[in-house]
Amino acid sequence: MLRFHKTPPVLPWLFPKVWWRRPVPDKTIFLTFDDGPIPGVTPFVLEQLAAYGAKATFFCVGENLERHPAIARQILAQGHLLANHTHQHVKAWKMAPEQYLAQADRCQAALERVGATGKKLFRPPHGQLTRSHLRILSAKYQVVMWSSLTYDFDATLRPEACLRKALTVTKPGAIVVMHDSLKAERNLRYVLPRLLRHFSALGYAFKTL
Ligand SMILES: [Zn+2]
Repeated sequence: MLRFHKTPPVLPWLFPKVWWRRPVPDKTIFLTFDDGPIPGVTPFVLEQLAAYGAKATFFCVGENLERHPAIARQILAQGHLLANHTHQHVKAWKMAPEQYLAQADRCQAALERVGATGKKLFRPPHGQLTRSHLRILSAKYQVVMWSSLTYDFDATLRPEACLRKALTVTKPGAIVVMHDSLKAERNLRYVLPRLLRHFSALGYAFKTL
């Protein structure tokens, strides 16, 4: 399998409206967690973030929000940002733009039911997007991709390799993707505390998007 640790499947120059990284004047990193909330995994992430005074952005799946609203409220209560990752983790390339927007809107309604307000950020599952999907989404949402992919969800990748790659590609302003999912749990439990420790020691702050 080809692994693009820096570049998502759609390319920045094709989609300039999308956030790939954020301009920052200082040592700031934007940690993001996709696919939750999930019992056992999301609470672990919250504990780790709290230990370092770190804030992060959680791109939630609507169905998981409906199953685990208490965890979603805990994310908000701890000062993190909740964001949209479609209602059922659907792939853009398999769905008409209007249907895809309906998936995003359904997730947004679930986010608002647990108390999310303010910025409407959206990340497409699997990084899949087309120009027509982007056009229809951009009227309502800010689409967010990433600059650093840890590949924590890839169970064939050893946790040490996962961490090494995450440390190498993460720079000021980076948007880092991890997953609060069962599939990623083993790598996440290894990578997240070490990544927080490494960049905290270098004077970095972790903020919401
Ligand atoms: Zn996802």
